[in-house]
This record gives sequence, structure tokens and C-alpha cells, in this order.
Amino acid sequence: MRMPRALELFDDALADELAEFYKDLHRDPELSFQENRTASRVVTAVEALGCEVTAGVGKTGVVAVLRNGKGPVIMLRADMDALPVREETGLPYASNAFGVDPAAGEVPVAHACGHDMHVTCLLGALTLLSRTRESWAGTVLAVFQPAEELAGGAAAMVADGLFERFPVPLVVLAQHVSPLPARVIGHRSGAFMAASDSVAVTLHGRGGHASAPELTIDPVLMAAAAVVRLQSIVAREVSMQDEAVVTVGRMQAGLKDNVIPDTAELGINIRTYDPRIRERVRAAVERVIRAEAAAAGAEKEPDFEWAHAAPVLVNDPEAMAVTIGALTANFGAERIMQLPPVPASEDAGVFGQALGVPTAYWMWGGGDPDEFARVLAEGRMPVANHHPGYAPVLEPALRAGVEAMTVVALAWLDEA
Ligand SMILES: [Zn+2]
Ligand SMILES: [Zn+2]
Repeated sequence: MRMPRALELFDDALADELAEFYKDLHRDPELSFQENRTASRVVTAVEALGCEVTAGVGKTGVVAVLRNGKGPVIMLRADMDALPVREETGLPYASNAFGVDPAAGEVPVAHACGHDMHVTCLLGALTLLSRTRESWAGTVLAVFQPAEELAGGAAAMVADGLFERFPVPLVVLAQHVSPLPARVIGHRSGAFMAASDSVAVTLHGRGGHASAPELTIDPVLMAAAAVVRLQSIVAREVSMQDEAVVTVGRMQAGLKDNVIPDTAELGINIRTYDPRIRERVRAAVERVIRAEAAAAGAEKEPDFEWAHAAPVLVNDPEAMAVTIGALTANFGAERIMQLPPVPASEDAGVFGQALGVPTAYWMWGGGDPDEFARVLAEGRMPVANHHPGYAPVLEPALRAGVEAMTVVALAWLDEA
């Protein structure tokens, strides 16, 4: 297969320009729904390419439309937000930034998930497509999404009229940089990334003096019993053919040793791949907690505040065949890897689900292959996304990500 014209134009000058854009984003990360500087940089860059640009979609999201005659409409998506993590990569362009988290106050901020790489690679693909308009036809809807890490940005953009205000795509295409060796592509058809549900629970007891527990209803004991019993859900209610995780990541009660508090709080996260199992586990979590409260003689029902829900990310098999075909032609069959389902979550699937169109989502490697071989030979695992030491290796991650997004986009657009 001949290299597409768009990739022939991917020269060192463009690679350098994109590297500078990336380093700028990396130094200056922003938390979810606060991606204001990132969005304004994106706006400036995509306007220069001749896109129709709209900012403030779903609070801080940016939509760029690149029209090029009659043909298919496709959506390319990149997420923009960073994490409340103190960067420890030692890179010359590492972040020293701080941000204000609505719950935790002032926190260090870093692009520990690599979303700055996603933004840069989508910009690179748009640049190449805009410079080779004579070789393709159709419309590219480029979506720069906020707040993926809250699993809320995609839903916010859809609620803000993404598919009423802009051209409606026939497919949603998205990629994530990951701890795979450089130029390796990871993929899976069907359920690829888990659904994630979080619930904040308040257990109501009756406080009093530590010396007279008989006069109280102890919410600390209630919470402790609930935490233990919650682990029986996966062990006793989920078949060995199915998978689920229930984690209590937060447990808070009381301020002083000799005071029994009035309330206790639990923060619970659930991961599942199957919507039936998801419903069953969510219901079981509520049932177990209500029952523990009843067992303790609580006078008031517990409160449940469900938030942060990302549905399971399902890749459409036919859309994946087209997408992986294009990636195989570019990277070579030996670099295409089928992955097992990933327990992490991602809200990229929200767009296709809202519209009833297929999603094709893949991961691309951003790691130095020699470093990988060394780490694995020592029996260790490579540092992964969300770790303070994680950052993709600028080259080859950048070039591979731009190539991947470009060749997949061209596979879905018409040839001119
Ligand atoms: Zn992440
Ligand atoms: Zn991510």
C-alpha cells in the first residue's frame, strides 16, 4: 500500500511545531471543566487551519468542523483535562502547576493520563487533512472534550447540543496513549473498557459518649460491617463467567476517640462490563448497606448519592474492522495487538451511545521500546497512566499518534 499523501507531508517542521504545542500543554495542565487556557490554544490552532470553531460546548469543550465537500461525516475525539497529581517525571517540560479542585482545594496538577498528547495528535491529524484537501472528501467533526477524568465531559457536550448544533457523524473515533511500546496498537471489539459507578453513602447513627455505647447507635461499627459485607457481592452474587469490582475507597467517621459520631460516610466505586451485572451490583450495594443500617437499629435510612457514571465502552466490530485495517496497513500486522478488557473506564462511548452510531476506540503505545524491554526483563511493569512518573515519550508517541488518527480518519472519509 502506498503511503497516504497526508503522511508524506508529515515533515520535521510540523513535528517540531506539534512538539512545542505539546510541551506548552504539558507545562500548563488544567483540571476537569477548567480547561480554559487549553481550549483557547486549541481554538487559535484550529482556526488557523480553516476550521469552523465553536468554544464553550459542554462548558469548556471545543468543536472544530473541517468541511471538504460532499461525503461522510466522521467524529474524531480528544480529551483535554489533567489530574490532581504532582508530576515526578523529571522532564524539562514537567508541570509545576497548581489548580483548585472543588472538593480538595489547592492541588498539584499534571497531565498524568496523557490527554495533552491526545489533543496534540488530533491537531496534527487535522493539520495534515487540511493540507491535503484534494485527496479526500467529507466532513471532519473534531471534538476536544473536557472532563474525561470526571466521566462527565462527554455527557456535558451531548447535553449542550453537540449533535443538534453540528454535523451528525456516522462513527466516533478516539484513541488513548498507553504504556505499550512505541508504534504498537492495542484494541478489542465489544466491551473494551469497564463501566464505572461511584456512590457516596451517609450512614445515620446516633452519637454519644464513648463510655456509654448502649445509649448510641454506632455508625462506625455500621460502616465497618457494611465494608466487609460489600465484598460478598462479587464473591457470592457474580458468576465466574462475569466480572465486577467493588471498592470502598473512602471511609470517614468521627473526630475524637471518646466520642461516638452521628454519621459515617463511605465512598464506593464499582466496575463492570455487562449492563445486567452493573444493575445487579448497584442494587446489591444499596441492599447490603440498608440491611446493615437496619441490623444496627438505625432510625434513619442511609443516603445514597450516585455520581461519576461512565457506561461500558463498547467497540463496534464492523467499525473496528475498518479502523484496525487502516492501522495495520500503516503500522504492520506485527504491531497490532488484541487486548483483554481493561478495568479502567472512559466516557468516549457516551457520544456513540447518545447518537446510536458505532464507536471505534484504540490505544497506541507511547513508550520507548528499549526501556520496555529492560523493565520487563527485570520482572517489573512499565509505569502507567495516572502515576506521577508517567508521561509518553514525546517521540515516537507524537508521530505515531498523529499517524494513527490520520490514517483512520482517511479510511472513513471518501477518496477524492
Ligand atoms: Zn485518566
Ligand atoms: Zn485518560
